[in-house]
Amino acid sequence: MEMYAGVIVDIKTSSLDRIFHYKIPAQLESKLQIGHRVLVPFGNRKVEGYIIEMTAEPTYEKSKCRDILKLLDPKPVLSEQTINLAKWMADHYLGLYAEALQLFLPPGTRYGRERVDVKTQMVYQLNDLDSIEEYLSQLSKNATRQRDVLLLLKEINGNLSATEIIQKTNSSYATLRALENKGWILKKEERVERVPEIVVFKEKPVLALTNDQENALKVIKEELNGAKRPILLDGVTGSGKTEIYLRAIADVIKQNKQAIVLVPEIALTSQIVGRFVDRFGDQVAILHSGLSEGERFDQWWKIYRGEVKIVIGARSAVFAPVQNLGLIVLDEEHETTYKQDEGSLRYHARGVALKRAKMNEALVILGSATPSLESLHKALSGEYALVQLPKRVNQRPLPSISIVDMRKEFDSGNRTMFSRELTESFQEVLENGEQAIIFLNRRGFSTFLLCRECGNVIECDNCQVSMTYHQTDNRLHCHYCSATSPVPTKCPECRSPYIRQFGTGTQQVEDYIKKTFPLASTIRMDTDSTSRKGAHQRILSLFRKKERNVLIGTQMIAKGLDFPEVTLVGVLSADLSLNFPDFRASERTFQLLSQVSGRAGRGSKPGKVIIQCYDPSHYAIRAVQKYDNKGFYQRELAFRRELQYPPYGQLIRILVTGEEKAVKDYCQQVFETIKGRLGEERIFGPVPAPLAKIKGRHRWHLILKSQLSINHHLRNLPPAPKQVNVVIDIEPHNLL
Ligand code: ADP
Ligand code: ZN
Ligand code: ZN
Repeated sequence: MEMYAGVIVDIKTSSLDRIFHYKIPAQLESKLQIGHRVLVPFGNRKVEGYIIEMTAEPTYEKSKCRDILKLLDPKPVLSEQTINLAKWMADHYLGLYAEALQLFLPPGTRYGRERVDVKTQMVYQLNDLDSIEEYLSQLSKNATRQRDVLLLLKEINGNLSATEIIQKTNSSYATLRALENKGWILKKEERVERVPEIVVFKEKPVLALTNDQENALKVIKEELNGAKRPILLDGVTGSGKTEIYLRAIADVIKQNKQAIVLVPEIALTSQIVGRFVDRFGDQVAILHSGLSEGERFDQWWKIYRGEVKIVIGARSAVFAPVQNLGLIVLDEEHETTYKQDEGSLRYHARGVALKRAKMNEALVILGSATPSLESLHKALSGEYALVQLPKRVNQRPLPSISIVDMRKEFDSGNRTMFSRELTESFQEVLENGEQAIIFLNRRGFSTFLLCRECGNVIECDNCQVSMTYHQTDNRLHCHYCSATSPVPTKCPECRSPYIRQFGTGTQQVEDYIKKTFPLASTIRMDTDSTSRKGAHQRILSLFRKKERNVLIGTQMIAKGLDFPEVTLVGVLSADLSLNFPDFRASERTFQLLSQVSGRAGRGSKPGKVIIQCYDPSHYAIRAVQKYDNKGFYQRELAFRRELQYPPYGQLIRILVTGEEKAVKDYCQQVFETIKGRLGEERIFGPVPAPLAKIKGRHRWHLILKSQLSINHHLRNLPPAPKQVNVVIDIEPHNLL
């Protein structure tokens, strides 16, 4: 029977995002399989496509089906499993099937845009080890280099690359050619693996688990061998969650299965990677954007060939070509980096992980000291198994947290950045030879120019966001479009000369500390100081080796770091993020402050945290101080329930950007279309987004709220005109 291949083509247009059928030419008949990457004709172009089905009954007239042109890889790169998962992603997140499929492909190999391939080198070996004496006897006396090469290859008793031979024997390519011509040595091409650099942290092996850990592992094993309900591992910072992951994975390996471990930001979590490699050695592969493309390519194929048991990586590692999946771990499951916030397929790695695990009958462990409300809600309702680790290991106390009201400091005449309490504790830490972390909460805020008389803030003309003052060139910068402008001496609105910088940057904090505390040696970690590759590692290693005693930074230093000598964490302007126009502002602030507090007192000496803020009465701040997670969650859940926000209702955002009139008109058209399908009361907008303009493009959105899943109502929206771009974001994490 003549068979046809159902292909998804690599053309990112929703009207073409469906199966096209192609004839399988005779010479490919025995080779083609589902999951193969192929080249197909499309109109008068040639495009890459992915075979997702084989059928004898194409949906297109058989005689008109065209031939597949070429096979692009010897083996199918997609499995039925990944094809199904991609299909689910396209349906659920309302994206393109082609785009979803591509997340599962080897990196850097799109047809026509290939950037990497297998790396090979030439290696040599002796033709016949037993004939070595004969070769040597035939060699003339002064051919000492040829002799050395033969002896070296005899000693190695295997392959050696040309470069290594030449280096070790001080010979040349001519020497090798001479031996090759005599037929004494053989040349062949060999694959070389580009290996990413991993810093391994040697740790004392944990011999006995704590009681809490034992109990947690017991529940995990029950689920692993039973119903496989997802596990929410809710454990305070330093409670030994990583040790639990390690043990659960060891179990999974024993069952001859594999695990994927997702971490929020690999650059900052090298510590956790190091611990995994320390425990599992070369059974570990890593996948993240910090690797070179060649390294990623080699790691991907190594996983594909089934040579590793564990894959660790950032968000996209959830797509790794693992064949026999037993477990997926999401560390710091509440982190927003798991949500894809760019492009047109706005997936959440947690959602994909849960789905993938379900398809494979694998287990998911979601770990966090501050779980997301979504996961907590499911754990409380019994959909997930809830496992808690309420204490740090080894009876180490959690740090004491004190809250300072900066309005009172101001009233009593202290106009500096540090409250009196922070100044005192900081000085003490420096005198004792300990270390401190100073954390600046500036999510979305930074040093902007504010008129003290009329309240005007200088904004970028293109983007309608406040511009940031940079000391380095004494100019204002827009962080969205990188426009710059000089610092005005008078307010452009009211001509007042009292226009000043407002808000503090890490650099100003560093200047202040240097000036005020002679014992301090500082290092900064922020977007400026970490732009170069490997900068994170260098900064953290200086601090780890105690060559610096103060680490100053933003969000980047809040999570994952484990420095036993840090006894003080100071948080400046803790509540700035509470004023953020986002229903998750309290949750984010609570998580951030809890995480950063967890950096103190991780070693033998107890830690202290001082949080400076302007509204100490806010429930998020009070809950952090008292470690009252339960109280915070209850209050926050009540608020969400009342307003039907997640986890009680689904939120969807339709964001339209482009030329102003076209954007408004199209939004209205979308509104009219879905109004009929949904009923008006669930649709908010269309309105301008809080960031109403970025890089000259106007931004409007519609927000939909509902109890039930309404994704399917958003298919087949009216076609968008060329001047606008439309993104549908299911469960958006960013409403700006
Ligand atoms: P978390 O991931 O919950 O923040 P970690 O797994 O990093 O905590 O554990 C904190 C520290 O405690 C690590 O140095 C770890 O090696 C150590 N640790 C974990 N479990 C035990 C145990 N049962 N006994 C002794 N030390 C432990
Ligand atoms: Zn003014
Ligand atoms: Zn701008």
